[in-house]
Amino acid sequence: MHELSVVESMVAIVLRHAELNKASSVARINMVLGEMSTVMEEPVRFYFNMIAKETVAEGAELSFIRTPLVARCRKCESEFDVVEYDFTCTGCGGDQTEIISGREFQVESIEIK
Ligand SMILES: [Zn+2]
Repeated sequence: MHELSVVESMVAIVLRHAELNKASSVARINMVLGEMSTVMEEPVRFYFNMIAKETVAEGAELSFIRTPLVARCRKCESEFDVVEYDFTCTGCGGDQTEIISGREFQVESIEIK
């Protein structure tokens, strides 16, 4: 389960921001989770409750913002949303495409008290 290390670094970021802002507690953590990210929400919640215990982030609400999978064509450079894992370019029909977003997992913002 690679979520454990992912959540560890996520909590570290949150705690650092909370400390910098002298927060007494963290109300909510907004996270960006790409459609194709291998990170799953449920294990993240599970590990978060475990790791954030007895920190200012304990009990914070986790909010996941899903971002769509977007690819760019290497031939014609058009960018398009990937639907049902079809990476064929919608501009020229080419198959030389690369993913430009949709794999991310990051802390977007936190709300503190
Ligand atoms: Zn193309």
